[in-house]
Amino acid sequence: MPEAMDREPTPARRDGLVQRLRIHFGFRSFRPGQRRAVQSAMDGRDTLVVMPTGSGKSLCFQLPGLELPGATVVVSPLIALMKDQTEALESRGFEAMAINSTLTAAQREEAEERIKNGFHGFIYTTPEQLADPEFRTLLRAAQLDLFVVDEAHCVSQWGHDFRPEYLALGAVIEDLGRPTVLALTATATADVVEDVLKQLRIPDAAVVHTGFYRPNLRLAVVSVTEEVEKFDRLVELLGDGESSGVVYAATVKAVESLTEQLAERGFRVVAYHGRMKTVDRATNQDRFMKGEVPIMVATNAFGLGIDKPDIRYVIHTHLPGTIESFYQEFGRAGRDGEPATCTLIYRPEDRKLHAFFQAGRYPSSEDLVNAHHALKRLAESPPRFDELELVSPLPRTRFKSALNVFRAAGIVKEDLSGRLHLLRPELTLDDMSRLASRYEERDEIDRLNLQRMVEYAESRDCRWRVVLDYFGQDDEPVGACGRCDHCSPGL
Ligand code: ADP
Ligand code: MG
Repeated sequence: MPEAMDREPTPARRDGLVQRLRIHFGFRSFRPGQRRAVQSAMDGRDTLVVMPTGSGKSLCFQLPGLELPGATVVVSPLIALMKDQTEALESRGFEAMAINSTLTAAQREEAEERIKNGFHGFIYTTPEQLADPEFRTLLRAAQLDLFVVDEAHCVSQWGHDFRPEYLALGAVIEDLGRPTVLALTATATADVVEDVLKQLRIPDAAVVHTGFYRPNLRLAVVSVTEEVEKFDRLVELLGDGESSGVVYAATVKAVESLTEQLAERGFRVVAYHGRMKTVDRATNQDRFMKGEVPIMVATNAFGLGIDKPDIRYVIHTHLPGTIESFYQEFGRAGRDGEPATCTLIYRPEDRKLHAFFQAGRYPSSEDLVNAHHALKRLAESPPRFDELELVSPLPRTRFKSALNVFRAAGIVKEDLSGRLHLLRPELTLDDMSRLASRYEERDEIDRLNLQRMVEYAESRDCRWRVVLDYFGQDDEPVGACGRCDHCSPGL
């Protein structure tokens, strides 16, 4: 290619990108926002992509990753998804590997050898791995031209899925010599966007932000007064039970009992929640994904990164805590663009359940003092969480939240074998109450978020309007949307 063409964004070159899209992925055209994101990353600009779930964010980094000469690091929060993604890339004939804690020593060595020998494909990894200076030295020696942060809202305290480990990524990026950063998320609230730019230290990033309106998704709320009514409404909504859909429930117990009751009624269902054995969970997910079983009953543990195009409905049997997580969950419906229904079965009493959970979510200064004390006593031989739990006076969940606060503040560090090292034994009571007060604000935000969700459930207006307002998208073309139970009640 002549040099001039390399620089000028001539029409020929733009069409070239579509051609590359077809050759590499077999897609006929870009979806909204994709071309801009791809171009921006290829031009070497830091870029933040904000697009709804299911709109094709992976392509935004996969195409530049293929086109750019060097290797691409992809940071992803879920090890389970890495396998799917690397396998999908490999099946298209691209080079990809995953480096995470599940590798055996031999596998790891092999992967490191490949990087040393000039690997130019995709390296999927976790923030924990990147915290290791030796791993970073290895990456620095490689030709690295793109650093991707998928599910980038995990970096934000205001996101619904905060991972303290993500906070270190800004420093990691700098340590790697500032490769071009491409961050992607489906969370569009202004404070999360701002936080992502700040934490990743890419204040001048181009922001590619597409709309959040999904006209093929019909939103509806079914109100009940008693808990027992929920099951009958659910059965009505499921109809013959043959189309593919997800039923979300708030707790493991609710998932188990719904699954059982639905099976008794002859529905073909599988369950998914965080307390199942990993193999059972994987089997159930697999059967649902393959279409062997049409109905998935799950807690919110199910879904991140799930890509099943023909989900025809998502039903919530409880009130989600935020419109953001609600959107993420119902957004798994209708990825193929065909009509799908997203129903919330709402019982006003459910807000109390939230208030109850919320009460223990963040540790008080007393909790922090107790947890700090327990860690200090055992500092000689750093304990693992389960060992520590035995000697701590706190209930498990509160102890866990105290540890999360410590981790985020760099007071505790977990080593590879899960032992908890206390880095700041000298901290005082005052320090603890200062730390706790930071979380009071967070608590208030949770309350406001829940309030917005209640407004959605109780609104007399267009449901889509409420959702889009939440995301600050008041310019979206939704007058009477025709896609919710208020704008078109008959449907
Ligand atoms: P997200 O990460 O935004 O939730 P994914 O990257 O998982 O979404 O993509 C969702 C689906 O859209 C995938 O099945 C993907 O193959 C498909 N897809 C992405 N881009 C295109 C495109 N330009 N044309 C057709 N299908 C696409
Ligand atoms: Mg994704």
